[in-house]
Amino acid sequence: MRPVYCLHFLSRKSVQQLLLYAERLTRERDRAQLELVLVEALREILGASGASLLKLTQTPEESLVWPAAVCDANGPQLHDDGLSLPEDMASIEYYPLLEAGLQSGQMQAAGDTTVFPLRKADGDWFGFVEIAAAHALDGAQVVVAERLLAIFLNMIALLDYSEVDTLTGLLNRKTFDEYLMRILSSLSAGDDSRLEARHLPRRRRAPVPGQDHWLGVVDIDHFKRINDNFGHLIGDEVLLLVATMMKAAFRNIDKLFRFGGEEFVVLLKPTEAEHAHIAFERFRHDVAARDFPQVGRVTVSTGYARIRLGDQPSAILDNADDALYWVKENGRNQIASYETLVADGRLTHKDMDSDVEFF
Ligand code: GH3
Ligand code: MG
Ligand code: MG
Repeated sequence: MRPVYCLHFLSRKSVQQLLLYAERLTRERDRAQLELVLVEALREILGASGASLLKLTQTPEESLVWPAAVCDANGPQLHDDGLSLPEDMASIEYYPLLEAGLQSGQMQAAGDTTVFPLRKADGDWFGFVEIAAAHALDGAQVVVAERLLAIFLNMIALLDYSEVDTLTGLLNRKTFDEYLMRILSSLSAGDDSRLEARHLPRRRRAPVPGQDHWLGVVDIDHFKRINDNFGHLIGDEVLLLVATMMKAAFRNIDKLFRFGGEEFVVLLKPTEAEHAHIAFERFRHDVAARDFPQVGRVTVSTGYARIRLGDQPSAILDNADDALYWVKENGRNQIASYETLVADGRLTHKDMDSDVEFF
């Protein structure tokens, strides 16, 4: 076991190391790389045997945690590529230290393990950092760890800010383009080398048969009328409320985007066709059942499509858009799957192979 550094007197080497990692943390613009640098920095600077970054997702029913990046004697490894469903997801009930950290918002220590809860600037939970060392961290080490975590969270706040739409707080169009490209390249066979370069674990979760990513385009029905009848400010409030309901209706591991105007895009993490249907239908139902202040009833139409290996980004969007258009032509306030419409003969599949175009 390596000795724990005594940081009461920071040596010249420790100061250099600290600055080096501060520089690396503030240089990163890629979340996965940022997470890897954080766990490496914590392990090195604290002289710990291991440092793990755990992410947290909460629903009204449960809080789930999973390792996102881990650094041990084998170096930094990424456990969550941000695209597939994280493996090793478990209820926080199994981790008393994490649970205590979540409830109190304070650092927790037991034996050789120290846990720091991580809360973002907007108040949302990010997750936790867990440090395993030969001894509990001393006061100086805790201060160093807390400052490094503050730098990390500042970087997360910057990345969040550049990726969101200012009105609704959903992800913006630019982020959608990047995210869809990442999903498509993760599906393609040639992706393994890229993932390897990013230190993904060898035991990366294989795609589960029957589970696919799904893309849904959600459009508010007759939104122009809302603007015309109640004014743009009320229109904006409707957009905000719909976005808030969207965050509540989908799992927070699914990605939600404001695509422009009154159009939204949902990218579902891999799931069965039946569950994709249930998720989109639940959201449609929630909106239709809501009494919007002043406006009253608002409805949304949704078209969605499967994301498949080899698809062009524009083809997936076109498929979902075709399904949305079908809903608009057939009464609105419904959801429709492109694949189902084609299978039923209500839509004709276009062969996109001869028409290669990107966004
Ligand atoms: P449909 O049911 O066919 O979708 O009809 P619609 O009226 O919703 O669709 P249309 O595309 O004709 O109108 C969309 C309107 O959305 C027009 C535009 O003025 C309004 N809009 C776009 N962006 C914003 C925004 O940021 N705020 C507000 N208040 N309105 C917006
Ligand atoms: Mg509309
Ligand atoms: Mg529209």
